[in-house]
Amino acid sequence: MEPTKIRIAVQKSGRLSEESLKLFKECGIKFESGGSKLKTVSSNFPIEFLFLRDDDIPGYVEDGVADLGVIGENVLMEHKRQVDIVKELGFSKCRLSLAIPRNEVYTGLEYFQGKNIATSYPNLTNAFLDKQGIQVTTHEISGSVEIAPSIGLAEAICDIVSTGGTLLSNGLKEVATVFNSQAVLISNNTLDLAKQDILAKLLFRIDSVQRGQNAKYVVLNAHEDNLDKITALLPGMKSPSVMPLTEKGWYSLHSVISENDFWEIIESLRTAGAEGILVLPIEKMIL
Ligand code: ATP
Ligand code: MG
Repeated sequence: MEPTKIRIAVQKSGRLSEESLKLFKECGIKFESGGSKLKTVSSNFPIEFLFLRDDDIPGYVEDGVADLGVIGENVLMEHKRQVDIVKELGFSKCRLSLAIPRNEVYTGLEYFQGKNIATSYPNLTNAFLDKQGIQVTTHEISGSVEIAPSIGLAEAICDIVSTGGTLLSNGLKEVATVFNSQAVLISNNTLDLAKQDILAKLLFRIDSVQRGQNAKYVVLNAHEDNLDKITALLPGMKSPSVMPLTEKGWYSLHSVISENDFWEIIESLRTAGAEGILVLPIEKMIL
């Protein structure tokens, strides 16, 4: 009998594809991608990739055609499929926002009362405004939403924004955020035990990659007079490693610090007398 494989659906080409493939490669999973291939099997991990349009991914995972999928939360939430979100992946970050013509005076959400809004996300748009007691008419269109106000289709739009550049070049301004989105790993909610086991292995690898991305390896020199002060600033995974240097009274300290408070810690280290500070990226971090 063939050993069990898990089947994962990823976007064939678009704003999720590159980062999705990069993540699985960083997890040490080898596979061929690119070209016109719609399906490929990894040579060193029990996983099969399906390359699809992103809109089809939640449905395939719900139906069990694929066991897992990578999808933007925005698409998932719009269609309310019965699947589990097993991991937030931290890439393809964007927001679903309401935008109006730049020369309009925005008076708060009441501005939208009774208005026509063009969007590819009618459910999320209506749910958000309805909660605020605002009734609108949504017009569902699948692309180039930002053109709607200038051609008289709607007075406002609700669309995906990352930098706001597209809105600006279409004479629109962003006035309210409806939903913050990122890529998520979804799973069919009836995986058998063998597949759950493969998923657990995959999640362990993703966690290790993500932890590495959120941390930096720091090496520095310190004089013994400053050692206590500097050690206190470096929590590390347990505590910093301290190694004596050939120069008497000097030590080399190795530690891991989080990306979030990186600059603050570096500044405090310098003030505390740290010298020759080296900062290195971490490829993976296994706990
Ligand atoms: P497909 O051909 O697969 O249907 P698509 O055109 O519907 O692709 P893309 O534009 O590739 O979709 O976007 C896929 C997802 O990437 C979106 O659903 C959203 O989650 C995210 N995304 C969209 N725009 C941006 C952006 N400007 N920056 C970052 N992420 C984005
Ligand atoms: Mg799509």
